[in-house]
Amino acid sequence: MSMQNDDYLDGNAAAGELSNIFAMDVTAAEGQCAHCGATKRFAEAHLYTQCPGFVARCAACQHVLLRLVKARQRMFLDMRGMTCLTLDTSQLQEST
Ligand SMILES: [Zn+2]
Repeated sequence: MSMQNDDYLDGNAAAGELSNIFAMDVTAAEGQCAHCGATKRFAEAHLYTQCPGFVARCAACQHVLLRLVKARQRMFLDMRGMTCLTLDTSQLQEST
């Protein structure tokens, strides 16, 4: 977890929480921003954690890519800010 300034972390900070949802490492995946079309690794996103969960924003345009909200026994995942998430399946073969 690397702190880039006082406001946000990088996308790697979301790895632990996202590993509860996804079997694959989403921080290593590439996501395409629905707003500006930039395709970047999720790890490059700007992660804001001043909420019960986190908000990941596009490093290029600051549009919201992904929101995760935790409330009691539920977790809400909003991924409409990404038109496409590309995962490297070679990591699946490593784990078998
Ligand atoms: Zn963008």
